[in-house]
Amino acid sequence: MKNSINSSLLFKKSIFGILIFASILLYSINLYSASTENTTSLEGRENCVSCGQCVDKAPNSFELDEIDGKVNIKIVHPDSHEVFHVREAKKACPLQIISTNF
Ligand code: SF4
Repeated sequence: MKNSINSSLLFKKSIFGILIFASILLYSINLYSASTENTTSLEGRENCVSCGQCVDKAPNSFELDEIDGKVNIKIVHPDSHEVFHVREAKKACPLQIISTNF
């Protein structure tokens, strides 16, 4: 009887331990994927000369503002396909104000 109670308690502790481990693992994976997410930003948007080179290269990611004519980012976190176009836009910008972490 005592062995049966101990086994049951051990089983519950094991399940609890597995759930804790799985939670920590999922949390870590989530943190890792968030920190490695592709990100596009602008370093000195005020310096944009509205040439439109970035919009030509990556129209899904960039647009010229209707009011001040300067660039706006449409997609801050581009997917793997869009990354190619953003890189081309970054290379094409004469002022090099497009910044990425990829
Ligand atoms: S290529 Fe550079 S300067 Fe030209 S519109 Fe885009 S961000 Fe502005």
